Amino acid sequence: MDGNALAARVRAEVKEEVAQIGELGLATILVGDDPASGNYIRRKHQAALEVGISSTDIRLPAETSEAELLERVEALNEDDSIHGILVQLPLPDALDPARIVRALDPAKDVDGLQPLNAGQLYLGRPTLVPATPVGIMALLAAYDIRLSGAKAVVVGRSDIVGKPVAQLLLRQNATVTICHSRTRDLARETLDADVLVVAAGHPALVTADMVQHGATVIDVGMNRTDAGLVGDVDAAAMDIAGHMTPVPGGVGPMTIASLLRNTVEAAQMRARSFAFPCD
Ligand code: NDP
Repeated sequence: MDGNALAARVRAEVKEEVAQIGELGLATILVGDDPASGNYIRRKHQAALEVGISSTDIRLPAETSEAELLERVEALNEDDSIHGILVQLPLPDALDPARIVRALDPAKDVDGLQPLNAGQLYLGRPTLVPATPVGIMALLAAYDIRLSGAKAVVVGRSDIVGKPVAQLLLRQNATVTICHSRTRDLARETLDADVLVVAAGHPALVTADMVQHGATVIDVGMNRTDAGLVGDVDAAAMDIAGHMTPVPGGVGPMTIASLLRNTVEAAQMRARSFAFPCD
């Protein structure tokens, strides 16, 4: 499954929408100097600029206090030129990510982690949804993967990937199983999957013999090893799967494209006074 090609299409659509909307602003906050986080942020800004979204890159020292960070978030919440805000996780240990994420204006929460947005997804009425799951669902749709009645297995239960993608699959009427580090027999679960999404952060956690013949496999993992960037699924599973995302070039580019889409979505929601579907 070619994430690069689909992401290019999504970015082109977003670029047209941005041109129609006019000025659009995305702000990111990075606390500390984690090189991987710095790299992600750089790619997000580059992608934003390419579609005409102006971006504000706020870098704060690792020793930033919670009060200082909350003040920055509040200022961005109030800034009318900013339509999307993203606080890059993980934060340094002294900062509580839950408190920071809670402080975000839900209408600008392009990572979809603010409790109001997370709750809306849980209630089956999604508003802003984390970008990686949005990108995964777009890939499944682009390749016409049948989800209704399918057995979907998600490996990983993070707030940013595992849980939200499970909710989106459920919404498409898949029968969803969520696996995690305490799952007793992972292979038994994965072998049953028509659609397998793996987001665990362990190279080759899922080997070819754990994949059902003809299954659709979405490999979210991004692991830097001596052999370069690898996913969570052994590449040999490509021969068994009906469809599979490569690493790199699968979910990664779709995550960035979906973040841009979320920024447009946030601006459109604000133009509608951010009426939640429940209002
Ligand atoms: P987290 O570390 O937050 O979550 C990992 C999950 O995997 C946890 O729920 C954990 O279980 C589970 N897990 C760990 N080991 C096992 C195991 N042996 N068997 C079954 N489940 C296991 O990671 P993220 O969700 O943030 O990211 C997962 C991977 O996806 C990483 O490689 C990350 O870099 C990548 N990623 C890629 C993106 C992209 O755009 N391509 C975007 C986001 C993430 P438990 O809860 O029990 O600890």
